[in-house]
Amino acid sequence: MSKRQRRAMDRREFIARSAMGAVGVGMAVGAAGAPGPLLAAEETKPKRISKGGMVYRRLGRTELMVSEIGMGGSPSPDPSVFTVALDRGVNYMDSSSGYMRGNGERNIGVVVKGRRDKCVISTKFHPGRFDENVKAKCIEAVEAALERLQTDYVDIMCVHGGGPDTCLNDEVVAAFEQLKNDGKIRFTGVSNHKDPVNVLPPIIRSGHYDVVLLALSRFSGTKVTEQDVKAGKVYDDWLQDSGLQSVLDLAAEHDVGLVAMKSMAGGARQNVAQYQVGDTTLPQAKLKWVLDREGVASCLSELLSFDILKENLAIVGTTLTAEEQAMLREHVLAKSADVCRMCGACQRACPANVPIPDILRCVMYHDEHGKLQRARRSYRRRVSATMYASCGNCDACIRACPHGLDIKAKLAYAHSILA
Ligand code: SF4
Ligand code: SF4
Repeated sequence: MSKRQRRAMDRREFIARSAMGAVGVGMAVGAAGAPGPLLAAEETKPKRISKGGMVYRRLGRTELMVSEIGMGGSPSPDPSVFTVALDRGVNYMDSSSGYMRGNGERNIGVVVKGRRDKCVISTKFHPGRFDENVKAKCIEAVEAALERLQTDYVDIMCVHGGGPDTCLNDEVVAAFEQLKNDGKIRFTGVSNHKDPVNVLPPIIRSGHYDVVLLALSRFSGTKVTEQDVKAGKVYDDWLQDSGLQSVLDLAAEHDVGLVAMKSMAGGARQNVAQYQVGDTTLPQAKLKWVLDREGVASCLSELLSFDILKENLAIVGTTLTAEEQAMLREHVLAKSADVCRMCGACQRACPANVPIPDILRCVMYHDEHGKLQRARRSYRRRVSATMYASCGNCDACIRACPHGLDIKAKLAYAHSILA
């Protein structure tokens, strides 16, 4: 049997088993099918429940029970994969008004029709882009999202990449209050792509936001110096020492739900076969590491094919083994100096305030995710023709980076492919 025939058979088997899985879920919890995301108020609220082959975790004070594996929305999967993912218990889906120019939300609207109450929809918009009439524009933006999603309410509406200035803006807070009172959103959230240690604490402490979506990967827990690489050592306390663990702890203290993203950092998702341990692939080990962090309710993943969906679902309810840890260490040693942890130290040191972490994220979209148009749009929105004028002999960013990234070379590369 050829590889292609075997893949086709895997896919047919997977869909058939999914249909059986869906029936199984229905049998386990009654005619309503998969567990509704919100537990009834009088129910005891466990941190985790396992049903129909999926593990659902409590998303902080929202009390929503969300699938360990969440569906990333940029891009959203093909409807055939999306539907099977729902059948297999994936109930958390993430999007943004900006993903695929609104089509990310539209796709969710089409696929979840008829099973809306079984899904947790989290989406985002950019209130920071509104200069005036902020409250009215926020409300308009959310109403437009509802229309694209073909729903009356969004479970979690997030500020996309917002800092305290945006998230704690009185008009933004007032808009969210009104939207909650009108039943158009249930909870609020914020996504973070940069400097979480400084950006997130005031937002979490404010009490206005119920959910935080942040970049978390095996690389977040590690700092590797050049000497370490030579000695084959990996320094494993970086989550603590970088301050990121204190953000996770603060979220737990305020009962704010945590959703992880960018967990596949460190290379294209495929083409990683050399790191296989037994049946566990490198992407599976990366997911497991993230889901092993206390407080993480769901890890977003790009479920773009049946193979990826199958690979993701296989790790549900499992934890990282010592062999898998060792495989991740090997990968981290090989890739550490290429992976931006989005800590923001370089931008804070930059006299020209070049948005370095954002630029490196654009490169990641381009190189690792194959999102060429998105990477270019995002780069061009952020970088002006004169932005690198101060670079010359400056190397402040390179000296500030705890991970030894050759930032200037990366900026030059970014400009060559994205400008
Ligand atoms: S080299 Fe350029 S990007 Fe880096 S700190 Fe200096 S001015 Fe900023
Ligand atoms: S390039 Fe280095 S300093 Fe800058 S955000 Fe990334 S990891 Fe942090």
